Amino acid sequence: IIEFNDVNKWYGDFHVLKNINFSIKKGERIVVCGPSGSGKSTMTRCINRLEEHQKGTILVDGVEMNDNLKNIEAIRKDVGMVFQHFNLFPHLSILENLTLAPIWVRKMPKKQAEEMAMHYLERVKIANQALKYPGQLSGGQQQRVAIARGLCMQPRIMLFDEPTSALDPEMIKEVLDVMVQLAEEGMTMVCVTHEMGFAKTVADRVVFMDAGEIVEANKPNEFFDNPQHDRTQMFLSQIL
Ligand code: ATP
Ligand code: MG
Repeated sequence: IIEFNDVNKWYGDFHVLKNINFSIKKGERIVVCGPSGSGKSTMTRCINRLEEHQKGTILVDGVEMNDNLKNIEAIRKDVGMVFQHFNLFPHLSILENLTLAPIWVRKMPKKQAEEMAMHYLERVKIANQALKYPGQLSGGQQQRVAIARGLCMQPRIMLFDEPTSALDPEMIKEVLDVMVQLAEEGMTMVCVTHEMGFAKTVADRVVFMDAGEIVEANKPNEFFDNPQHDRTQMFLSQIL
């Protein structure tokens, strides 16, 4: 469902993604890890073209990511994204945050959008907060709202970029629980995270990036028990 073929990207002179070749099947759960600055966010953001690559091809659901606006629009509807900072609109209620895109992008009638929003808020166990504003919720609650907002676009793929790294420890679990549930339902997921417990239990494959390259990608048990590269071993010894 996602295919990177020799993808390269530069920020000015800085070669941030180097010959990325990787494909992800429908329903697969991928965890991406690696040191700060290794290109994890950049690679993830290329999937829905929040970043442009300069060389190689990226196919998402058979559609090539290029300058074609039609393609970009098609993919953005199919790919939900959750960031470290929840990026909710502070002046809109939780419910309005969720219905905005379905009403304006998907042209869904308001009532139907609200019903759907409530459905997803229930799934992330936060329906009772629907009329509050983001600033009135805890970080963990806001992140669950952000996930529900992503789901309201009924995406086929969800991207997560360190969704728990800005949260206090007691809130991390409530967000991970929602992600685990999504994984169990068969959502195709790409998660940049250093939550190695999540990687071990949920991921089909763990991808390790360093200096703009995919150094290693393997099933979690092999990745953790028998890392092939020195760089992976060093990284794991630092974070485990
Ligand atoms: P972190 O774990 O800190 O989030 P990351 O692996 O997600 O790191 P990226 O955010 O993808 O790393 O950044 C990769 C490299 O590209 C870093 O060296 C960063 O400084 C650089 N970079 C990121 N965004 C830009 C930009 N807009 N312009 C120039 N350089 C950038
Ligand atoms: Mg990042």
